[in-house]
Amino acid sequence: MTATERTIAAAEKHSAHNYHPLPVVVATAQGAWMTDVEGRRYLDMLAGYSALNFGHGHRRLINAAKEQLDRVTLTSRAFHHDRFGEFCTALTELCGMEMVLPMNTGAEAVETALKTARKWGYRVKGVPDGKAKIVVADNNFHGRTTTIISFSTDEEARADYGPYTPGFEIVPYGDLAAMEAAVDEHTVAVLLEPIQGEAGVLVPPPGYLAGVRRLTRERNVLFMADEIQSGLGRTGRTFACEHEDVVPDVYILGKALGGGVVPVSAVVSSRDVLGVYRPGEHGSTFGGNPLACAVALEVIAILRSGEYQERAARLGEHLHHELNLLTGGPAVTAVRGRGLWAGVDIAPEIGTGREVSERLMARGVLVKDTHGATIRIAPPLVISKEDLDWGLERLREVLTAG
Ligand SMILES: *Cc1c(COP(=O)(O)O)cnc(C)c1O
Repeated sequence: MTATERTIAAAEKHSAHNYHPLPVVVATAQGAWMTDVEGRRYLDMLAGYSALNFGHGHRRLINAAKEQLDRVTLTSRAFHHDRFGEFCTALTELCGMEMVLPMNTGAEAVETALKTARKWGYRVKGVPDGKAKIVVADNNFHGRTTTIISFSTDEEARADYGPYTPGFEIVPYGDLAAMEAAVDEHTVAVLLEPIQGEAGVLVPPPGYLAGVRRLTRERNVLFMADEIQSGLGRTGRTFACEHEDVVPDVYILGKALGGGVVPVSAVVSSRDVLGVYRPGEHGSTFGGNPLACAVALEVIAILRSGEYQERAARLGEHLHHELNLLTGGPAVTAVRGRGLWAGVDIAPEIGTGREVSERLMARGVLVKDTHGATIRIAPPLVISKEDLDWGLERLREVLTAG
């Protein structure tokens, strides 16, 4: 048995099969490249679903983590620690907002946003107790908790997990009229991904986010943007909402906020909204811990320079130019996305998304399929143009070899 076979066999035997990983066993990684246990190198074109926007082993992030490891790693929120205020201030400044509620994973931040919206609805808006409604879009992906999958339209994510949390209405993504019809006097929030990642990198029609912003402002409803995957540089801006000059009431952040080092998530909003909390009403043992704050502070400092947003915009333009050339051919039926982020729909004659991913893996490129026929391309923003072109050349080979 090879080292690869041994590891995969152990995982198959002793881990729940809630994932279907490609048969590669990563041992080390640097920048946009990963090396497996056999010494083979692969170009990472997934970047941990955008958790690795700054690449593997970014020196500044690793150093920030190492320095903090030697000082203090966890205090719980029972005490203050010396990175917390600094982190909250820096994140509010990056977001142009006033307050932060730090959590760990994306799903926890989404849960926190949902609880915040309900509490705001009862305490500030004056919605009758137990009546709060939150409007969401179909094909959404906001995480895996029981409440979050209660408003998923993906049967795989939802089946067998009932009874479901009530209080949500699902409308078609991108349909402003449907949104307008769904928002009523008991609606406390609209929760949307500015670009739907897991759905296949779906960009809403122009004017949609601005329309939702106008509607939610008129009706005194919170616009909560789940920027966990779309945010922090991926689309060529710090936030995907910026492409429509939209500032939501609530940003939900995660993934890249932890620099690919530790899980860090946050809800960021105004004092009106996050000011609803009193001690004991919400919390997390690990939320806002010193190690998380130290790494996230470095992520925020990196983002402040604008370097990676600019890279994502420039390389993204090149990526989409090259991918659009493929849509002319028989292998690709559609390409969507923004910045260094693309969903590529593969014609069925070429193979499934999974088969294309496996063929790419054999050529040294790692991507992930979604919803059968789509592959998602989202390399770390540190990728060089030469490496991106090399990866795209492998994609062309796979698509033309059939
Ligand atoms: C990944 C993701 C989440 C969930 O984050 P986890 O850290 O996996 O819980 C939520 N929303 C969006 C848009 C995501 O991409």
